[in-house]
Amino acid sequence: MLVFARRVSRGLSSISVHSTFASSRGRCRMGTVAHSNSHVAAKKLKDAGLLLSRALIGDKWCDAIDGRTLNVTNPATGELLTSVPFMGRKETELAITAAHEAFPAWSQKTNTERSKLLRKWFDLLIQNKEELGRLMTLEQGKPLKEALGEIVYAAGFVELYAEEAKRIYGDIIPATTQDKRIFVLRQPVGVVGAITPWNFPLAMITRKVAPALAAGCTIIVKPSEFTPLSAMAAAKLAVEAGIPAGVLNIVTGDAPQIGAALLESTRVRKITFTGSTQIGKKLMEGSAATVKKVSLELGGNAPCIIFDDANIDLAVKGALAAKYRNSGQTCVCVNRIFVQDGIYAEFAKAFALAVSQLQVGNGLDEGVTQGPLINPAAVVKVESHVEDAVAKGAKVLTGGKKHSLGRTFYEPTVLADATVDMRIFSEEVFGPVAPLIRFKDDKEAVAMANDTEFGLASYIFTENITRGWRIAEALEYGMVGLNEGLISTEVAPFGGMKQSGLGREGSKYGLDEYLEMKYLCLGNMSPP
Ligand code: ADP
Repeated sequence: MLVFARRVSRGLSSISVHSTFASSRGRCRMGTVAHSNSHVAAKKLKDAGLLLSRALIGDKWCDAIDGRTLNVTNPATGELLTSVPFMGRKETELAITAAHEAFPAWSQKTNTERSKLLRKWFDLLIQNKEELGRLMTLEQGKPLKEALGEIVYAAGFVELYAEEAKRIYGDIIPATTQDKRIFVLRQPVGVVGAITPWNFPLAMITRKVAPALAAGCTIIVKPSEFTPLSAMAAAKLAVEAGIPAGVLNIVTGDAPQIGAALLESTRVRKITFTGSTQIGKKLMEGSAATVKKVSLELGGNAPCIIFDDANIDLAVKGALAAKYRNSGQTCVCVNRIFVQDGIYAEFAKAFALAVSQLQVGNGLDEGVTQGPLINPAAVVKVESHVEDAVAKGAKVLTGGKKHSLGRTFYEPTVLADATVDMRIFSEEVFGPVAPLIRFKDDKEAVAMANDTEFGLASYIFTENITRGWRIAEALEYGMVGLNEGLISTEVAPFGGMKQSGLGREGSKYGLDEYLEMKYLCLGNMSPP
């Protein structure tokens, strides 16, 4: 049974991260803007018990100790959805204690026992798919169809690691002397601190929590301040599935304070992070003092190379999917499209036409394929990239300005004649803008594609398999889509090279991040 912690103090202050709507705990209400479909959807979620406003520490759903809260709003409308606790160091320390205390019993369960609990969690996530999808669209903005896709993708990690939990094998190595035996054991790292972003409010949680739990670790998750609600709803379902108290904790609030508490604790043995390269570097630095295991999934600057011999329909479809999913707000989103001379004009025309047909709007509305950006600041960043490119000679083929819906909406945009001196060439735009850059030959394409500090995802379109293979090998990227724009799946290793990160998530390899290898030597065996 869930125990609700008594509120220590009420409504002292409230911090709004999405908009100017401010409310205090106890006076929390829907925003005043009338957007009926969002309002109705939020009400239904509240009734279904999946719109939560407390964080989970041990077996308690808690407010912040000082009662402070953080507003969570719908990026499409500015409506206040609810507020969540604005927690800091003290609450994080309580969560670390809860995770630390839960660790012995959880890690000593058999792998099959942990597997069964994860499987139950997976079943509940799928059973609640529709509600979780609507919740995600409300807090993140992505079109409902994409949100539902993310729920299935997110649940996929839980299913995968429920299965992989049973296959955490050790090893026996032939010894060099007759009186010895050499064994390799694989044991959980311990308490894990996970910090996640807003662009995939659930998949980034399960991608970390599921392998951690399968390995026998316990975890404290700090979801993004913009999208904490999907994480909280998923945690509620984990409790319902029977995951014991303290194994999964959710702390919301003050990112630097929560981060510092996780980093400084000697009881936290691992940090796993998805987010910006800038914060990733800080976390890596902060992990040094206690030598924590670290895995990082950071920024990207994905190239998409379209060769003269590409199937043009496939290339348009692939580049469209790889660029405009989640309105361009994913770290594997194409940031630069390189198009070979011979196909440039034809591709540019077909691509701009396809982009101009994308439907922009509130993600809950039927037929919408492009939701809002996460907040007005994201729009300002996109605008500045486009202004910079146009000032340096780029031509707008479609879009190029704020959408008439205003606030957080930007028109899906294609820029022709982009060049390497434009900001968009070297910085992730994280919005619906695709620059087209011309190239002559394979060598030039590879050199430009690799001319970045990042190395996450990359894409190639060619009908020549030899060329495709050669270019794939030459790209300094952790992932390559060859004639494919959608590469993310729970069964493949996701991760980057260079400053895009450390380690891999998903697949059997994702488990290694949560396991220590222990060498056990049995010696002085008497001869038979
Ligand atoms: P984005 O630009 O995609 O929001 P960030 O790296 O800023 O990427 O945020 C990703 C996650 O990191 C979020 O949960 C955010 O709250 C958290 N975060 C931001 N700053 C810090 C910090 N100093 N310490 C720990 N976590 C942080």
